Amino acid sequence: MANDNKLQNIIAHCKEYGFIFQSSEIYDGLQAVYDYGQYGSELKKNIRDYWWKSMVQMNDNIVGIDAAIFMHPTVWKASGHVDNFSDPMIDNKDSQKRYRVDHLIEGHAETLPKEDGDALLAKMDQLLAVNDFAGLKQLIEDNKIKCAIGGTSNWTDVRQFNLMFSTEMGSVADEANVVYLRPETAQGIFVNFLNVQKTGRMKIPFGIAQTGKAFRNEIVARGFIFRMREFEQMEMQFFVRPGTQKEWYEHWKEARMKWHLSLGIPQEHYRFHDHVKLAHYADAACDIEYDFPMGFKEVEGIHSRTDYDLSQHQQHSGKKLTYFDTELNQHYVPYVIETSIGLDRAVMMVLSEAYAEEDLGTEEKKDDRVVLRFPPMLAPIKLAILPLTKKDGLPDIARDLMNECRPEFKCFYEEKDTIGKRYRRMDAIGTPFCVTIDHQTKEDQTVTIRYRDSMQQERISISAVKQLVLDKIKAF
Ligand code: ATP
Repeated sequence: MANDNKLQNIIAHCKEYGFIFQSSEIYDGLQAVYDYGQYGSELKKNIRDYWWKSMVQMNDNIVGIDAAIFMHPTVWKASGHVDNFSDPMIDNKDSQKRYRVDHLIEGHAETLPKEDGDALLAKMDQLLAVNDFAGLKQLIEDNKIKCAIGGTSNWTDVRQFNLMFSTEMGSVADEANVVYLRPETAQGIFVNFLNVQKTGRMKIPFGIAQTGKAFRNEIVARGFIFRMREFEQMEMQFFVRPGTQKEWYEHWKEARMKWHLSLGIPQEHYRFHDHVKLAHYADAACDIEYDFPMGFKEVEGIHSRTDYDLSQHQQHSGKKLTYFDTELNQHYVPYVIETSIGLDRAVMMVLSEAYAEEDLGTEEKKDDRVVLRFPPMLAPIKLAILPLTKKDGLPDIARDLMNECRPEFKCFYEEKDTIGKRYRRMDAIGTPFCVTIDHQTKEDQTVTIRYRDSMQQERISISAVKQLVLDKIKAF
């Protein structure tokens, strides 16, 4: 399956089987905004829960919070987002299409021989580093870069475009009431650092974790749920003693990679991308990249952010954000290691990994299936319970099994269509186990359990079903 097709096929599959829909689809959709359907929302929740468990439940020294999306406007001044959270953009006057300057130049560089492309990118990096917008425009013109839509080189000047969405709070729409939709969840953690440290009597090193929505007015938003305007993040800020940040950075790099591998995804589908050019506040940073259908791209960032964020908030709020280290008998502003993963990108990663088109045909008979090979703990539905027929009391036995299992995990009951068709529908939504109740069940209290990946079937006692599924979906 060509990778281009794979992405298109996954998008179509997600829509057909109730995983992900375009937002406001009946109004022709809202660009780069998506809704999760009945199975997508279960999958997303399972990934979020697994992340939360691995952070908050499995670590003594990490606690979770749930901060508001709206924050005091000065938060975003202090964090640098008001002044710096922007990308240089350029518009094509003929097609009215807007481009991120680096994407436009990178796209052109890919069409050049490697050496020329690299030279162009090096020049671009130099100009970006000093915000030389006139130079960037000149570079675009000198290279005769054209708009992919209109095919012309009729460009506006290069301008900065802030990615934060703003709105007004209260009834008076003046400047003072402007608030932003948070572009990341991290700041909710920084401003609550002392609240949590004091009330939780936390001792450094410790972490605060949070999941929640973030909003960015992405200009070039494509790649399905890879780059959205409204998305969800799962972030953890780990507060450490100054001078120990390098070792904690390495610790979290390794711990996060282990988490990814624990999803059953092979090592060769991941790589680290260590940042060479660091943000001014960072002393180390890397991305974990996953081999998406579009190629290796960032799914998570791990950043050693020094004491920048807490110091900035200390300065802008006028409130002390220091910690008293009883071992050192010293006050200091802690250093921070951040792990930040996009939940939607994680969903896309898990979907890309799980999606398989299988040819099961023989010479006599054509047969194929689409199967989502989710790890059982992440599957939206864990167990399908299928009475062979609607008669002879089989649905009653099936309903009893439903009632026994549903408090423990998500089950699905279906009595329509042939068993073969029902199995295939369960394969398509990634249900790892199907149980069929037939006439023999009435005689010896056994059922047929069918495994999604191998399609093997075996007879087991009906009383063993719940525990079997529970054992297979256990995360820790
Ligand atoms: P990118 O370079 O892809 O724009 P970023 O470096 O700006 O990402 P961060 O600010 O480090 O991203 O955010 C942390 C994580 O949040 C990313 O690794 C990604 O998984 C997720 N994320 C960021 N922007 C988006 C978006 N527009 N849509 C979906 N997920 C996103």
